[in-house]
Amino acid sequence: MADFRTHLSVAAGGGTLLALVGWQADLWTPGEALSVVGLTALGGILPDIDADNSHAVSLIFTLLAVLAVVAGALLLSPWLSLGALLATCGGLYIGVRYGLSPIFKHFSVHRGIWHSLLAALLCGLAISAGGYRFLALQPGFAWAQGLAVMLGFLIHLLLDELYSVDLTGARLKRSFGTALKPFDYREPLNSALMLLMVAGLVPWQPSWSALGELLAQGSAFWR
Ligand SMILES: [Zn+2]
Repeated sequence: MADFRTHLSVAAGGGTLLALVGWQADLWTPGEALSVVGLTALGGILPDIDADNSHAVSLIFTLLAVLAVVAGALLLSPWLSLGALLATCGGLYIGVRYGLSPIFKHFSVHRGIWHSLLAALLCGLAISAGGYRFLALQPGFAWAQGLAVMLGFLIHLLLDELYSVDLTGARLKRSFGTALKPFDYREPLNSALMLLMVAGLVPWQPSWSALGELLAQGSAFWR
């Protein structure tokens, strides 16, 4: 398996490429392009969320906690006083950073369900729905953010597979085929649950025509 630094830098590189294309095609402002880089990099480390005891895990949960605080502050600020808002955000941070991670560790196997295309789809759809519904992003840009996470995720899975091929002797290590898979065959129940979550996110997505438009603009740029 590729190490944490490789994952982070390759995904950030892929995100930069994507951001440059979108910026050149006049789809995004520089600030928006920067958030695309960040989300691709996040996608590039997310699959290792189930690795026991890694750098990735603590960094991922710190990032998720920061995201939760930003979303919480944006959503709740019209309703709460400053003191209550600070307390809530502090609770959110601690809950996500220190509460969620042991639960995760308990229920997941490394290179299990989170190393799959289904998980990439789930995370991408969660980001696009969240950005569109909670942060009121434009439909096309919300889709772009979801796609950025999926791209980072795919880069991670591909890297893991590449590293399981012994490049000098072209022998396949035993881990070959465990990273890039449609879903986790060994955990049919959890995979079914994940599929249900994906289906549940579908009605919350921005309009599909906006996705079509974004992809058409992106492909027109290459022609
Ligand atoms: Zn991995």
